Amino acid sequence: MQQQVPAISHRGQAFKAIFQETATNLRQLLQLPDNYHIVFVASATEIWERLIQNCVEAHSHHLVNGSFSKRFYEIAGQLGRNATKTEVEAGTCVNPQTVEAGNAELIAITQNETSTGAAQPLADIAAIRKQYPEALIAVDVVSSIPHIELDYSLIDSAYFSVQKCFGLPAGLGVWLVNDRCVQKAEALLAKGLSIGSYHNLPGLVSKAAAYQTPETPNVLGIYLLGKVAGDMLNKGLDMIRRETKYKAALLYGLLERQPGLSPFVRDKTCRSETVIVGDVAAGSEPLINHLKQKSIVIGSGYGPFKHQHIRVANFPTTSKEQIEMLSDLIDAYQAASVK
Ligand SMILES: *Cc1c(COP(=O)(O)O)cnc(C)c1O
Repeated sequence: MQQQVPAISHRGQAFKAIFQETATNLRQLLQLPDNYHIVFVASATEIWERLIQNCVEAHSHHLVNGSFSKRFYEIAGQLGRNATKTEVEAGTCVNPQTVEAGNAELIAITQNETSTGAAQPLADIAAIRKQYPEALIAVDVVSSIPHIELDYSLIDSAYFSVQKCFGLPAGLGVWLVNDRCVQKAEALLAKGLSIGSYHNLPGLVSKAAAYQTPETPNVLGIYLLGKVAGDMLNKGLDMIRRETKYKAALLYGLLERQPGLSPFVRDKTCRSETVIVGDVAAGSEPLINHLKQKSIVIGSGYGPFKHQHIRVANFPTTSKEQIEMLSDLIDAYQAASVK
């Protein structure tokens, strides 16, 4: 506030310095290769639309296993593209051998389906790249980065918004794109096709090269993200990952041990470590309300699972002690109510 971050001009030197610090910290934290660009937009939902406008002329293919992956598929259709999908049941992951993407220009993978707690194993992304070397691969890592170790050489774009793992107020989307994506957008433009207006990819990338944005951006959000990324660098990604694994193991152990509770994702190889979803046999509402009285707020189920599931955001901003306390409280509550 003393530096007047919310009030500075987005065309001035002070903003450029903020943009540069945030981009530098993110690049280091995510270990982003040099052929990737970082651009800032309003949300992950916006990035879905921009990916289709800039990287797909006719056909995109989507791995669908929950509400978020499905929404991206629907947006491609709304923008008039031929959107195809490989869809599996909620709580499961797509077997890469079953993906039939044909000549899709872009394949969309939701690495961590926040609505169900299913996480697509990273080896599956490698398998899809091998099968479809020509297609651009875009990976939704909204609720798993920076915990997961993405291999950026196997994909072309990844994206997230800051209100999940970075624990910040909503209103900022971070889009990582490589040169192949930019070249695709330029090729569509050269054909006389529309790639959108103020947030088209070549425009975003050329502005970002000068630490600028096309419009008046969420300056405070960009500033805070740089600070949180710096904090994470200080703590160390190894430590963050170890803690996340420990907290996830604690929660899955609880779900497996307590009668009346079970992990929604049955296949252990596709269980998310950052979004833990439990099935509550007696319905999740009483448990959620009980925790609320103890000042702990956890998520209900998403969409059709609203009354059946609990969803715990196991993000870096939640401490080991908080998750231990949550686990103890659920243990005690279940033990008393299932008798
Ligand atoms: C939250 C979420 C989104 C949407 O993010 P917005 O910032 O609301 O646009 C997209 N994908 C996944 C997997 C999410 O968890």
